[in-house]
Amino acid sequence: MTSIYLSRLAKFLRSTTSRLAMTYLLIIMLMSLGFSVVFYNASVRQLRRQVPPPSYYYRSSILPDDFGNITQNVEEFFRERTEEGRQVLLVRLVWLNLLALSVGGVVSYLLARKTLQPIEDSIESQNRFVSDASHELRTPITALQTTNEVALRKSKLNLAEAKELISYNAQEAAKLKLLSDGLLGLLKQDGKSPAVAPVSLQDVVTESINQVVQLAQKRGVKLDDEIPKLKILGNKQVFSQVVTILLDNAIKYSHEKGTVYLHAEERGKYVYLDVRDEGIGIKASDIPHIFERFYRADSSRSKEDHTGYGLGLAIAQRIVERYHSKIIVKSILNQGSSFTLRIPLANDN
Ligand code: ADP
Repeated sequence: MTSIYLSRLAKFLRSTTSRLAMTYLLIIMLMSLGFSVVFYNASVRQLRRQVPPPSYYYRSSILPDDFGNITQNVEEFFRERTEEGRQVLLVRLVWLNLLALSVGGVVSYLLARKTLQPIEDSIESQNRFVSDASHELRTPITALQTTNEVALRKSKLNLAEAKELISYNAQEAAKLKLLSDGLLGLLKQDGKSPAVAPVSLQDVVTESINQVVQLAQKRGVKLDDEIPKLKILGNKQVFSQVVTILLDNAIKYSHEKGTVYLHAEERGKYVYLDVRDEGIGIKASDIPHIFERFYRADSSRSKEDHTGYGLGLAIAQRIVERYHSKIIVKSILNQGSSFTLRIPLANDN
């Protein structure tokens, strides 16, 4: 039992938190001890100052006969008081330092935890990111490896089989590209706050529509847009990336031949850009998670033609946070979803 506690204690003492706490405690104790030494020396010096005889005796022309004795007694008395005062001061300072040690220990530990928490969170998030990314990468790579190995084991491969294999390889390579683009997109959104400028919302939306028009045609989805002439405060390229992500999802998760509506309006200091579809919708329990990296609702996973890695909304969320914007989601399963982008309005509208 004792050995368990000892090993736990040893582990704790070796931990980064305890080492940082010790450093903080060392600083607190050095300050406290330094202050105590200076205070003690100054006080003792003051206490030991020579006490002059009362001025009354000097002013009086007649000195009492036993003046010598009196001054000796007084000096003796003051010496004792000084010594007593010095000892009391010393004991109090020792107590004060013991108190500083115990309170400082707790404070140092709490401070060390507070300092290290964000660093630990960030390391944990990085590790999770690497592990999630590796997991997602492994699936297409394994599929590629297996199919190619099976093909290689065949003694003969006719033209049709070879073409099928190449087409499969191309599809998997495209998935890997999509994933690596998503990962890079996520990484790009970390860093300092970007510069903003007034940008035409119509330009942003046009650029996004150009990106998704082929997918919409492929799925027979109609795009219905109604964007007034407004200027937002942001960056054209970056906001069109966000709108593209929302449009791409709206098209992907729409029923074939459905319609995706794009509508914007000015309200107060913001522009609200709504991307609405009448597709598969999102379960209420999934909504809080859809902005997490690699999160995909079961309904989207099960549909084979819905390609994606659950990175789009995570990227969009990071972008909007950096530009003082927000994404508001409303969705009803099997009825459709609406993703509303709230962006600061530029002053020169
Ligand atoms: P993905 O690449 O899987 O689309 P996203 O991060 O863009 O990744 O979206 C995360 C998940 O949110 C999707 O897998 C899907 O389950 C859900 N989702 C996002 N947009 C919609 C939408 N318009 N309709 C239904 N589900 C959606």
